[in-house]
Amino acid sequence: MSAARRPLKSLGQNFLVDGNVIDRIIQAADILPDQPVLEIGPGRGALTKHLAGRAGRLVLIEYDHALAAFHRDQHQDNERVTVIDADVLKVDLDALLSESPQKWNVVANLPYNISTEVLFRLYGVHSRLARMTLMLQKEVGDRLAAPPDCSAYGVTTVLLGLWFDIRRVFVVPPGCFHPSPKVDSVVLNFIPRTAVRAEVGDEGVFRSVVKSAFSMRRKTLANCLKSAEFAKTVDCEQLLESCAIDGRRRGETLSLEEFALLSCRVTELLRTAQP
Ligand code: SAM
Repeated sequence: MSAARRPLKSLGQNFLVDGNVIDRIIQAADILPDQPVLEIGPGRGALTKHLAGRAGRLVLIEYDHALAAFHRDQHQDNERVTVIDADVLKVDLDALLSESPQKWNVVANLPYNISTEVLFRLYGVHSRLARMTLMLQKEVGDRLAAPPDCSAYGVTTVLLGLWFDIRRVFVVPPGCFHPSPKVDSVVLNFIPRTAVRAEVGDEGVFRSVVKSAFSMRRKTLANCLKSAEFAKTVDCEQLLESCAIDGRRRGETLSLEEFALLSCRVTELLRTAQP
C-alpha cells in the first residue's frame, strides 16, 4: 500500500508511532463538537483517524501525492473529509478557511523544513483560527516562547505572540517517530487572545517593522529600520526619538509593546504622508 512506502526525508516525513503521544496531542487539540479542523501533513494518518471521528469537517493538506491518494481512499465514504493534494505553502489558506463561518482548529505535526514558513502563513489567517496544536522541532518551539534579548527571540516570537497565548504542552523525544529525527520535538498550543496584546495600527506595517528590526542582527535598530520600505517615507531617527526608543539598541532587545508602539507611529506617519 502507498502509505507504507519508505518515508521521504525531503518532505520531513517523521511519522508518529507512539500511541501515548498521539492520544496526548488529540487531547491537547480539544476539538469541539462540529468544529472544522485542518490537518497539515496527515502523513500515514496517525492523528487523522482520531480527528476524523471528532471534527465537524476535516480538511487534510498533503504534498505527498501517494499519501494524499491513500487518504482519499480511506475517507471516500466520509463526506466531511476533504483531501487537498498540494503544497501547503501554495494553498490560499484565507480562501480555504473562509469556506466555514466557524473558526478552525488546526492540528499538525509539521514537516520541520517548512515549519517557520507555515507559522507565518497561519499567523496571516489568525482571525479565522479557534486554536492550534502544533508539533515543532523543539528549537523552533523554544523560539516562540523566548523573552527579548536572547538569541532565540525572533520574528515569529513577536508576530505570533501578538495574537496567541502559546503554551508548551510536552516535549517529544526522537524515539516516538519513524524514522527518528535527530532532535527533540515539542507540542505547543496556540490559543487566540481575547484581546490583542498591544495596538499595532496597521498589521502589515507591524510585520514590516518587526521583520526589518530583525533583518540584520548585528546592526543597530536604527540601521535595520532604514532598510524597510516605509523608511522611504518615514524618517527613522525621528520615529525612534518620538517613541523614546534608543536607535543604538539591537532589534532583538525590543519588547512586543515597543514594536507595537513603533508600528502605531509608522502607521500614523504613513497615513498623514498620503497625498
Ligand atoms: N501527521 C503525520 C504524523 O504525525 O505521523 C505526518 C507528519 S510528518 C512530520 C509531515 C507530513 O507533512 C508528511 O506527511 C509530509 O509528506 C507532509 N508535507 C511535507 N511538506 C509538505 C507541504 N509543503 N505541504 C503539505 N504537506 C507536506
